[in-house]
Amino acid sequence: MTDYLPVPNPTKSFWLTAEVDFHDHRSTAELPPEADIVIVGSGYAGTTTAHFLMKEGFDGTIVMLEARDVCSGATARNGGHLKPSLYYSQKSWTKKFGEKGAAEIANFEFAHLAAMKELIEKENIDCDFVLGRSCDVHLTPSAVNAALENYQQFAKNPYVTCKQDVQLHVGENAKTISHVLDSEVCVTFTAGQLWPYKLVTSLLRKCMQQGLNLQTNTPVLEIQGFDNKWLVKTTRGTILARKLVIATNAYTASVEPKFMNKIVPIKGICSHITPKVRPSHLSHTYGIRYDGADQDYLINRADGTVVVGGAKKHIFPFKNVFYNVVDDSTLISGTKEYFDNYMKLFHDWKFTDTDTDHVWSGILGYTDDSFPYVGEMPHESNKFIIAGFHGHGMPRVLLSAKALAGNIMGKKLEVPEAFKISQERMTRTRNEILASLGTPVAKL
Ligand SMILES: Cc1cc2nc3c(=O)[nH]c(=O)nc-3n(C[C@H](O)[C@H](O)[C@H](O)COP(=O)(O)OP(=O)(O)OC[C@H]3O[C@@H](n4cnc5c(N)ncnc54)[C@H](O)[C@@H]3O)c2cc1C
Repeated sequence: MTDYLPVPNPTKSFWLTAEVDFHDHRSTAELPPEADIVIVGSGYAGTTTAHFLMKEGFDGTIVMLEARDVCSGATARNGGHLKPSLYYSQKSWTKKFGEKGAAEIANFEFAHLAAMKELIEKENIDCDFVLGRSCDVHLTPSAVNAALENYQQFAKNPYVTCKQDVQLHVGENAKTISHVLDSEVCVTFTAGQLWPYKLVTSLLRKCMQQGLNLQTNTPVLEIQGFDNKWLVKTTRGTILARKLVIATNAYTASVEPKFMNKIVPIKGICSHITPKVRPSHLSHTYGIRYDGADQDYLINRADGTVVVGGAKKHIFPFKNVFYNVVDDSTLISGTKEYFDNYMKLFHDWKFTDTDTDHVWSGILGYTDDSFPYVGEMPHESNKFIIAGFHGHGMPRVLLSAKALAGNIMGKKLEVPEAFKISQERMTRTRNEILASLGTPVAKL
């Protein structure tokens, strides 16, 4: 399905200002005719899967196919925010999966903080990683209500193991701690920030040193079953995979049309903002929440700049600009101006002039039921998937990839039940995305 392939000439994100010395890399001039494992996609999911396969002791051949340049998808154009969702979705998760299932997701996301720190330290990766606190600021009555209800649900769930990390603040405390004068309620908890492109390209370089064959600018066009193996057809010829890993996130329908209404490409916008005179350093990373799905996110980089993403007021009401859109070569009208004034929200930035020096777009892979698809595809032996991170991959991909690598090597798949691919999930036809975003029905 060429309609779902990444487009050429994407916008350039702030993260892509980092130089890597293997742009447009091809480990071999020709595509190898076969491989033990073929991974499609060189982003966070594909790369960490390769990394963990090698850590698990896999010593066969691995070929990675990438449609554009290395790590040029969502991972290279996100907000750099490793922020677990702990309390905020507890009501809906409990309704769907019970207390145990809801806690399983929060605990899994929380575990990413320590896992990421361990990975970065062990592999000695320079990617501006900071483990600090995040502050969710709730700015409308409905956001405050939702926060309080979800927090109560979280606090009473006996299976949650990260409860002590999360703190609710109200009234004057909320204003002081959040640095936002309009904030009546805020919630703080441990979160991380990093330079995702540096993380992934560093891991990718290490994987190549251990034998990974990387083939950039090689879009996969079709996959065909062949004797329990998979024929992977690309613009540069065909490769036979004994095992296949699909790590194409928003673009998954380009290789697997059955995901067309299940993993939907959603266009998002992010920015990098530099203060003209450096104000006091913000104490937290942020989630700023308004009504419904309207929210922004922000990281406070140690160099005094910030990365802010969201601007959803300018996106979600207009289905045609964001829904089922793979074009990250353009921006969305109104978003640059939105970020230009954004930092005035914080009282210590009120009189600080800022320069929005980078604005970029990226494509998020939202799923029909809001959870990623991880595991071996039902009734399709040796075809694995790790995709559909619903705009929230940083605290979900790493341990999903570790679990998937183990699963490919014969171990049980240790991810939350909600993430596991199943026949039931594949046959359900309901798509909850637009309703959850509050996109007006008249525009559908
Ligand atoms: C604007 C924006 C802001 C975000 N902010 C955050 C954030 O702050 N925190 C957070 O947790 N998450 C955030 N996300 C989501 C997060 O970036 C993703 O969940 C995560 O990066 C997904 O990683 P991935 O490897 O699955 O996908 P990707 O990084 O998109 O990798 C998929 C790769 O597959 C390649 N590919 C696709 N189709 C084919 C094909 N047919 N053949 C060959 N190759 C193919 C693509 O080119 C791409 O390189 C954001 C996303 C965006 C777009």
